[in-house]
Amino acid sequence: MTCRIAIIGMGKIAHDQHVPVIAKNPDFELAAVVSQRGVHPPGVPVFASSRELYEKIPNLDAVAICTPPAVRHAFAREALAAAKHVLLEKPPTPTLAELSHLEAAARGKRVLFTTWHSRFNAAVAEAKARLAGSSIRSLEVEWKEDVRRWHPGQEWIWQPGGFGVFDPGINALSIVTAIMPWAIFVKSAELFFPRNCQTPIAARLVFEQADDPAARLQAEFDWRETGEQSWNITVETADRGLLRLRNGGARLEIDGELIVDAPLAEYEGIYQHFAKLLASGESDVDPAPLQLVADAYMLGRRVEVEPFE
Ligand code: NAP
Repeated sequence: MTCRIAIIGMGKIAHDQHVPVIAKNPDFELAAVVSQRGVHPPGVPVFASSRELYEKIPNLDAVAICTPPAVRHAFAREALAAAKHVLLEKPPTPTLAELSHLEAAARGKRVLFTTWHSRFNAAVAEAKARLAGSSIRSLEVEWKEDVRRWHPGQEWIWQPGGFGVFDPGINALSIVTAIMPWAIFVKSAELFFPRNCQTPIAARLVFEQADDPAARLQAEFDWRETGEQSWNITVETADRGLLRLRNGGARLEIDGELIVDAPLAEYEGIYQHFAKLLASGESDVDPAPLQLVADAYMLGRRVEVEPFE
């Protein structure tokens, strides 16, 4: 049965991915959108508020919430109360408590799906399979991009709950938490805040692996990179060689040999998975990447840097 879905928040990701991917997937029909600015794809009804959406389209099955994270809990809570299934853009919520609350509200009643789009790469699945049970010597995450190029005009990223450099950085952590064979914990963090911003523009994290404290595990996130953009994860193992995930998880090399280089189809994978969840009635809620960001904030040493203009 086709799922009648509405998108809430018609910003960049809704426009670039959700609208075209829903249009291609026969399991879904875009029934409406909610947009404060009245933005909508041609022929699709638009409502100024989610309340109006539920009143006017009572047979709606699901919503995809594509707003900034700070307001997502309220939209998701309202959707679950209106008996709709919920797909959440990443990061699902700004706090772990809000996510636990949504998980409990959905349990046994509706499907809740916390999407982590970077995980929907063939190279990430392959890296996970290759690393299963392996002995890790080191992990190095390098996520460096130009915030002005990728987030023009997005004021919310600098506000509390906006995640700052962890908005892209959490994508790396979603891959790390998917592929690492053993649990890792944040041991220390340095967070670099522009003097005029509420969220960090850069961060350095050191992790520990529970059963092997000698492993060197670190991550560097930086939004000030105007040169070559890098979204790379390197894992050195004692028994499986050197794995390099490049291009945000699209390409996998092992000991210099290309293993996977698949075209990007993250959102196609997200909606295929959502269709399966809807068919089975199961939720898919993974707080692990959000947990690492929260712990980085909890342990992080604050460093002030020049204002962001
Ligand atoms: P964006 O371009 O700023 O769009 C967010 C949209 O949400 C706004 O255009 C607005 O749409 C709506 N909105 C903003 N503030 C709101 C509020 N207070 N209450 C209700 N609606 C509000 O941001 P984005 O880049 O699409 O990112 C949205 C989420 O997707 C983020 O969590 C981000 O991490 C994730 N994401 C983004 C990308 C990307 O490439 N940009 C990739 C993957 C994931 P209306 O005016 O239509 O209501």
